[in-house]
Amino acid sequence: MYDIENYYNAASVEEALELLAAHPSAKIIAGGSDVLIRIREGKIAGCTLVGIRDIPELHGVTLSPEGDIYIGAATSFSHVTADPIIQKYIPVLGRAVDQVGGPQVRNIGTIGGNICNGAVSADSAPTVFSLGGRVRIVNRDGARLVPVEDFYAGPGRVHLNNDELVTHIVIPKENYEGYCGHYIKYSMRNAMDIATLGCSVVVKVDRENNRVDDIKITFGVAAPVPFRCKMTEDKLKGRPVDEGLLSLIENSVREEINPRDSWRASKAFRLQIGGEIARRALARALEDGGVCHG
Ligand SMILES: Cc1cc2nc3c(=O)[nH]c(=O)nc-3n(C[C@H](O)[C@H](O)[C@H](O)COP(=O)(O)OP(=O)(O)OC[C@H]3O[C@@H](n4cnc5c(N)ncnc54)[C@H](O)[C@@H]3O)c2cc1C
Repeated sequence: MYDIENYYNAASVEEALELLAAHPSAKIIAGGSDVLIRIREGKIAGCTLVGIRDIPELHGVTLSPEGDIYIGAATSFSHVTADPIIQKYIPVLGRAVDQVGGPQVRNIGTIGGNICNGAVSADSAPTVFSLGGRVRIVNRDGARLVPVEDFYAGPGRVHLNNDELVTHIVIPKENYEGYCGHYIKYSMRNAMDIATLGCSVVVKVDRENNRVDDIKITFGVAAPVPFRCKMTEDKLKGRPVDEGLLSLIENSVREEINPRDSWRASKAFRLQIGGEIARRALARALEDGGVCHG
């Protein structure tokens, strides 16, 4: 049983914003794979919902004239993975969201819902961070683009007012052009389990000199919010692409991340796994980009 006070289905972004203004305590619902569970658990029972699933402009992936990738917030994971723009320019994201839950969840769950629920285990988040993603937020006064790192406020919390809506996740051209990447989700079971730890590595190689030109490394579940390993990134930039690079990332991220003990895994176990998945993610990213690493 779902205890819902009222349900309004918005047909446009403008209508959704009007509904949110008229019902200040209403919750947005996209796919509902988080919201409906929280209602059933009684955490937000009796709430009013504003549905955004039928708003056409929130669906699909487009390339702006500048080459930035706009991913509609209500685009399901399955669509993100299958989209030709994603496959051509940022396949790392398509493969990352293909690791969410099972097929039913990937068909119903949306990338916007995944980022807006603020969960540190969200499978899209490490890759959106590593791709330097922006969150496009609208309210009745206009729109703004916020770096995804500034969007996260804490565990399960994001900087979004009740009268606001996320319309797109934006990946700027300069953050994906020439880069290759890989995401590894470590979980206790292969299917239908959230990440015990996740790591997304996105790297750009100076092919002439076979050195790391730029690299971004983001962990999920290693801190209260997705965590960029900026110290390790700085150490790796300019380094030759060889076996030593892989040892360096492995050892350095273990010094940098600070995961916690939980019933899922101990801190010591997460540190061990963290070094390993960072190393493997970098190796796979380089292989996928056709770069030999020793
Ligand atoms: C069985 C099961 C397995 C799962 N496995 C995984 C997994 O492996 N990995 C993983 O990352 N997640 C997993 N999830 C969680 C969930 O599927 C994802 O977080 C999903 O992305 C949520 O998207 P949604 O559209 O269903 O969100 P909803 O439930 O509709 O919304 C989630 C939150 O975001 C807000 N919201 C949604 N869209 C917007 C928007 N455009 N603007 C502003 N606020 C918005 C809602 O108000 C709500 O607070 C699982 C869930 C289930 C039920």
